[in-house]
Amino acid sequence: MRYSVTMWVAFMMFVGTAVGAEPLPEVKLQKINDRVYALLGPTDVPNKQNGGYMNNSLVVIGQQGVILVDSGSHRAVGEHIGKAIAGITTKPVTHILITHHHGDHHLGSIAFPAAQLVSTANCAKEIETNGRGMVSWMARVTGRKLDDTTPVTPQQKMASPSRQAMQIDGIKLELIAPQTAHTHGDMMVWLPEDGVLASGDILVHAVNPNFSDGNLKKWIAVVDDILKMPLQTVMPGHGELMQQKDVAEFRALIGEFYKVVETVFKSGGAEADIRKKLDLAKWQKLARYEAMMGGNINHTWLEVEAENF
Ligand SMILES: [Zn+2]
Repeated sequence: MRYSVTMWVAFMMFVGTAVGAEPLPEVKLQKINDRVYALLGPTDVPNKQNGGYMNNSLVVIGQQGVILVDSGSHRAVGEHIGKAIAGITTKPVTHILITHHHGDHHLGSIAFPAAQLVSTANCAKEIETNGRGMVSWMARVTGRKLDDTTPVTPQQKMASPSRQAMQIDGIKLELIAPQTAHTHGDMMVWLPEDGVLASGDILVHAVNPNFSDGNLKKWIAVVDDILKMPLQTVMPGHGELMQQKDVAEFRALIGEFYKVVETVFKSGGAEADIRKKLDLAKWQKLARYEAMMGGNINHTWLEVEAENF
């Protein structure tokens, strides 16, 4: 009798675990060199299937600890990333560098209570003001409660635009904050000794970018500046690692997008004409097409309209 009660309790616990938290998709670990690793997530928007795990994180192993770039969509994603890091090194995560305020890049920070957080001041302000709303949105789209997830506002903030060279835990790095690109508070992380750039969502690979909080014309100029850097490996915000030629392809793609919208606008056309002029097949091949194309056209149309007012 006692045995069967135990069995029943064990069964209920199993059911509870299964209902409460579906396992997150596997972390794809890619070693860049002995101290730099990319943790690549799925590329879709956050949804019930991926449980909100759909971001890339960079792991840089310093003398005492780990510098992490981007921490994921909620606490469980942060813990998921933490487990992957524990498979590489026993050192704790001491710093988290946050590329921008979109929830999938920082809401996992709560899983690393000892870490120092660094972002642009604009990004920190967005997290402080809208972080709770980001958690609610993430809970809704993933079908998870996320009661355990609280936004953490970065303690160290940098101005936009600015560029800061520094050393953290024996690692030389440069934080690059453009004026505006994907958002008004982007920060890229450049490791000059490794030739590695973590770009945040300023670069995405085989994924439709999200223009909704950015300025496409300024974004293109930022990508032109990236192309002047001695890049060896780029970890984009979403998608596989990139090389210089992939960055050039992305530049051509968004450049063409802007040009089409501008040409339609200046020739007196309507927003509805843009889909006819764009080479949509190119975009359909990339992830997130359905989720992004409509908003991207509309956002760029308004941007071009404002510029030509
Ligand atoms: Zn983003």
